Amino acid sequence: MTAATSPESTRKYDLGFYRYVRDNVDGGDRLNKCMQCGVCSGSCPLRTDMDHGPRKIFMMVRAGMKQEVLKSNTLTNCVSCYNCVVRCPRQVPVKYLLQGLLGLAVKEGYQEQTTSENGRFAKAFWWTASKYGRTDERLMSMKFFFAMGVGEGIKRSLANQKLAMKMLKAGRMHLGMPHKIKNTGELQKILAKAQEIDGRA
Ligand code: SF4
Ligand code: SF4
Repeated sequence: MTAATSPESTRKYDLGFYRYVRDNVDGGDRLNKCMQCGVCSGSCPLRTDMDHGPRKIFMMVRAGMKQEVLKSNTLTNCVSCYNCVVRCPRQVPVKYLLQGLLGLAVKEGYQEQTTSENGRFAKAFWWTASKYGRTDERLMSMKFFFAMGVGEGIKRSLANQKLAMKMLKAGRMHLGMPHKIKNTGELQKILAKAQEIDGRA
C-alpha cells in the first residue's frame, strides 16, 4: 500500500474535538491532566477486549481522531469496575470520561447503546443487580439471551448448556430461588435516591 492510500493518509482529524470534549463531556475538564502513564489501560480487566485502552483513547481525543474514538468498542466494553479511577495518579475520571464519550457517540449516531449486544448485557446485569442486590447468572443470562428474540434465546441457551452444567458442578451457579441480599427494600430506596441526585446533577 502506498503512503497516499494508507489509512493514515485518509484519516480525518477534527481539531475542535478535544475542546468539545473538554467543555461538554463529564470529566473532560481533567483530560489535560493525563500524563499518558498507561496505569489505566494496564489495570483494566477488559483491555484485551477493547480496540484501544483508555490511555490511547485519551491520546486520540487530543489528536482530534473523533470518528475512531466514537466508533471504538472501548466505550461500550467498559464494565465500570473503577480500577482505572482509583489507580490513576492524576485523578482523571477515566470511567466517567468513557461513559460521557459513549453518550456523545450514541447522540451522534456512532453507537447504538441500547440495541447493541453490550447494551443488552448491561441492561440484564443491571436488572438482576438492582432487583436482588446480587447478580444471578441464570436470570441474567436468560434475560440477555431472550432480549435478542425467542429463537436467539433458545439457540444461545442450548449453546451454553455445557458451560451451565460445569458452573453448577463447581458451585458457581445454583438451582432454586435467586440469591438476594437481606433488605432489598433498602436497596430500592438507595437507588431511588441516587437517581434523584443524578437527575439534579
Ligand atoms: S492512569 Fe491517568 S494519567 Fe495515566 S494514562 Fe490513564 S488517565 Fe492518563
Ligand atoms: S472502569 Fe472501565 S475502563 Fe476503567 S478499568 Fe474498569 S472496565 Fe476498564
